[in-house]
Amino acid sequence: MNPTNPITEVDLLIKNAQELLTLFPSSEGESGLGMIKNGTVAIKEGKIFWIGKTEECPKEISLGRGGHKIDATGKVVMPGLIDAHTHLIFAGSRENEFEQRIQGLSYLDIAERGGGILSTVEATRKASFDELFSLGKERLDRMLYKGVTTIEAKSGYGLSLNDEIKILKVMRALQEVHAMEIVPTFLGAHTLPKEFRDVRTRYIDLLTKEMIPRVAEERLAEFCDVFCEERAFTLEESKKILETGKDYGLRPKIHADQLSPGGGAELAAEVGAFSADHLEHVSQEGIKKMAEKGVTAVLLPGASFFLAMKKFPPAREMIEQGMSVSLATDLNPGSSMTESLPLMMTMGCIMYKMVPSEVIQGTTIHAARSMGREKEIGSLEVGKQADILLLAIPNYRYLPYHFGVDHVEKVIKKGEVVYTRSVVCGL
Ligand SMILES: [Zn+2]
Repeated sequence: MNPTNPITEVDLLIKNAQELLTLFPSSEGESGLGMIKNGTVAIKEGKIFWIGKTEECPKEISLGRGGHKIDATGKVVMPGLIDAHTHLIFAGSRENEFEQRIQGLSYLDIAERGGGILSTVEATRKASFDELFSLGKERLDRMLYKGVTTIEAKSGYGLSLNDEIKILKVMRALQEVHAMEIVPTFLGAHTLPKEFRDVRTRYIDLLTKEMIPRVAEERLAEFCDVFCEERAFTLEESKKILETGKDYGLRPKIHADQLSPGGGAELAAEVGAFSADHLEHVSQEGIKKMAEKGVTAVLLPGASFFLAMKKFPPAREMIEQGMSVSLATDLNPGSSMTESLPLMMTMGCIMYKMVPSEVIQGTTIHAARSMGREKEIGSLEVGKQADILLLAIPNYRYLPYHFGVDHVEKVIKKGEVVYTRSVVCGL
């Protein structure tokens, strides 16, 4: 405190949290959560000004005029959740395909009946900017209510220059009106559009010579992603696309080893990807190389669950090898139609054998790292953005344990309360 100006007026004070999870590595912190029992956070101008035990909060910190105080007695306070992998913008839905899969139809059968990813591409191409905007807004609202304050969002249902640009511009317009922070990724290499089926090298040319330069010029994305898979893009094509993206200032990400061990993880390490996502079939060598290069694994239990996959990514092995492991929804109409990151936390525990503290790290600080935002968000530290959740649960293990219901009481984004759970009125 400055002795000549002893009183500091703050905008928001959250006091008496039963468990305040800072996610800051602390000597007394439990399981890497940096837990403070009976904690207080003071927020000024959208950033964390002070954090610590309530009884140690300096008397010089007072609430400014118009400021808010929140009593978090009996509750858990933690950083806003971060969804590190979403396909936010798409039109149409595929519930018919969902039913067909339950009845035993294969991916190929469904594609032959006009379903699959290309049906979403068709619907998205037909949709207007305004339609995509309102669909995107509804999804962002649902995510915010679940406690998510930042998402990564991919294009990839346009697959033509104009349609990919349209999707990325919808994201930009949403960012201007919505509290959710959106980190945009260009995924023109999601799948081969049907008009290029017999001329795939021409699509690679379109991606590398027209789309990537234009996306970069208009500053519409921070990352470039590619679906590296037998059915999508080969290792060689993926490398070319990601390297071109890098030349234009787009940071690499990769959908890797989802359906087969294709060397995607090794490529992620080679090109210096921020994250490799999916990884169900990752090789030992791939894990080792990613650990060495500091690639974050983004695992998508919603897709494992929704596609009833038998093989899960070896999360425990990745953690033991020192990788940062993140969990995300993979929100998309085909393989993971959900906005619920808390549900992914429960799935991460049950299916991937991650413990509750690990799934909390995986949806906060590790997720921030997967998008290069770990200095601004993902943990509660002085000077960092005040993205904070108030949860009506007695301890952090309750969050994945009591699943399928909403525990979020308040969501704070950059110091502003952007969501408060409404109370059901009784008689
Ligand atoms: Zn995906």
